This record gives sequence, structure tokens and C-alpha cells, in this order.
Amino acid sequence: MSLRIVVAIGGNSLIKDKEHQSVEDQYGAICETSSQIAQICRDNRVLITHGNGPQVGFILQRSDIAFDKAHMHRVPLVSCDADTQGAIGYQIQQALGNEFRKAGWNKNVVTLVTQIEVDEDDPAFSKPAKPIGSFYTPQEAEMIRQTNLDWQLMEDAGRGFRRVVASPIPRRIVELDAIKTLYEQDFILVAAGGGGIPVINEDGQFRGVDAVIDKDRATSLLASQLEADVLIISTAVTHAALNYGKENQTALGKVSRKDMEEYLSQGHFAAGSMKPKIEAALEFLNRGGKKAIITDPAHIVDALEDRTGTRIYQEEI
Ligand code: ADP
Ligand code: MG
Repeated sequence: MSLRIVVAIGGNSLIKDKEHQSVEDQYGAICETSSQIAQICRDNRVLITHGNGPQVGFILQRSDIAFDKAHMHRVPLVSCDADTQGAIGYQIQQALGNEFRKAGWNKNVVTLVTQIEVDEDDPAFSKPAKPIGSFYTPQEAEMIRQTNLDWQLMEDAGRGFRRVVASPIPRRIVELDAIKTLYEQDFILVAAGGGGIPVINEDGQFRGVDAVIDKDRATSLLASQLEADVLIISTAVTHAALNYGKENQTALGKVSRKDMEEYLSQGHFAAGSMKPKIEAALEFLNRGGKKAIITDPAHIVDALEDRTGTRIYQEEI
């Protein structure tokens, strides 16, 4: 059966560890993810989104260093968002395109620069909560707090401290018509990268704002607007878990929407990482999606075929 699928590639899932952060390493990770995604593209209609948490943070930090050391102009965060859409989109286009060429399939992969409207008065602008860039030890975080007075740092899911930036709710996908047209014409699209470039609407004119939209939220919105059947969220872990990081940690396999709502309200999922994925999955199901999957890149095909990963279903099980 042919399904309408939207798959989100996690920005953190492209970085295996601190020793593998280079652009070349990330391309290697994209190649691995692409070999899985290519398999689901054969019989289904697929759109790909991706995160940019680490990558957008690296670009921003590079800009800060260039400003301090060489008096170069700073790159605004919104422009860093746009940069990640191009750079990561390029890598997906090449890696996935190569998979199709290897298989002898005549399929085009296209990246679409995507702006997403957010509310100017979104409370997120005064409450940064989206982790970006590198991870720091508590000692490093303390030093950074003293030297970079404009930075805000937060602990990220037991992995260390990270810089956090504003992450407003995505309201409207500006290029939706173009995305829909290409999707229906069987182009394999990469869109809404990094959660989309956040813009505010000032009397019909758009203006970019410095923020990073959570790509899980943006992906869920896009998946619903494309009337997708399945939303796949590819991340660094094979499953979402209850009691994450504790001795009684339990991986979640097949779960009903209702049970997942209960687990969410019990606080099992960390803010800024797994929580937005669960919320995105539930919102997608509440708007009519059939199934949402959370798993790691290596298990995308197996999870779609119901063998592994966290699979959240519309119906009661
Ligand atoms: P991505 O870049 O894919 O969005 P994130 O780092 O934002 O990845 O979110 C995935 C991470 O969430 C996992 O790698 C894990 O460290 C963390 N996490 C937090 N709570 C949970 C949980 N309950 N179950 C599984 N992973 C969790
Ligand atoms: Mg994330």
C-alpha cells in the first residue's frame, strides 16, 4: 500500500559523539539515514524535514568568534537558520539522490527554503528553551555564564548544559502551496529544515526573527497539512522511554494515543528534546494522522513495518 509519509531527521542524530562533529562526519550520518529513507521512498510518497539544533549553534558560535577575533560582522540567528536549510538540504539531496541513482530509480530530490510564520508576541521570545550547539560540563557552563552575559544555558536531558534560544510555535508555512504541488508530483522534498525560518507578518510583509522553531512542531504541522498518514521522527534513540535515565527505564513499543497522553502528563519526556516529539506526534494524531513513529535512523524501515521503535496509534490497542 502506498502511504503518505513525512519523516523528520534529528539534528542531534547526525552527530554521533564529540569526536564526530565535522561536516564530513555529518554527511556520513546522513548517508546512513538516507539508505533507510530511500527504501521507504520506493512505494510511498515521502517528504523529509530535518532539525538543526547543533548545527545552528555551531554557526552562531563561529560568527561570535569571528566577531571577537577579526571584527567581522555577526550572522543573525535567523540567517544561521537559513544557512542550515541549505547546507543540510544539500547533503540530503546528494546522499538520497545517490541512493536512487544506485538503485536505478528516476526520482528527484529537491530542497525548498521554507519560512514559517510565528506570532510576534509568542511568550517563547522572553523564555528561551530550545537547546542549540555544543554540550558543556557544569564547570564550563559556569565559565560561559561569566564571559557570555547574553547567553542563557540549560541542562539538556542529562547530556550536559547547552545554550538555549527562543523557540516560538510555528503558525503558518509560507511556502505551503509550492510544497504541496511538488509533493503531489512525486518529488522527494526536503522542506521546513531546522523547523523553518521564523518570520513575523507585519501587515502582509514578512520579517525574519532571531529564534529556532522546534523542528518536531513544524514537522507535525506540515505533516497534517499534507494529510500524511504516517509521521516518522528519526532521532538518536531507538525508542521513547518511560523513566528515562533511571534504573527502571522502559522502552515504549506500540502505544495508543490515549496512553501516550497519560505518559506525557506524568512528565516522562524531557523538555527541549523528547517532549516536543511526543507532543508533535500526539498533535499529528489529534488532527487525523494514523500513526506516529519515533526511532533511530537505523530502524526507520523496521519501525514502519511495525517491528521496532515507538509506534503511537490512533486507535485503542
Ligand atoms: P533531535 O535532534 O533528534 O530532535 P533531541 O536531542 O532533541 O534530538 O531529542 C532526542 C533525545 O531526547 C534523546 O537522544 C534522549 O537523549 C532525550 N530524551 C529525553 N527524554 C527521553 C525519553 N523519555 N525517552 C527517550 N529519550 C529521551
Ligand atoms: Mg530536538
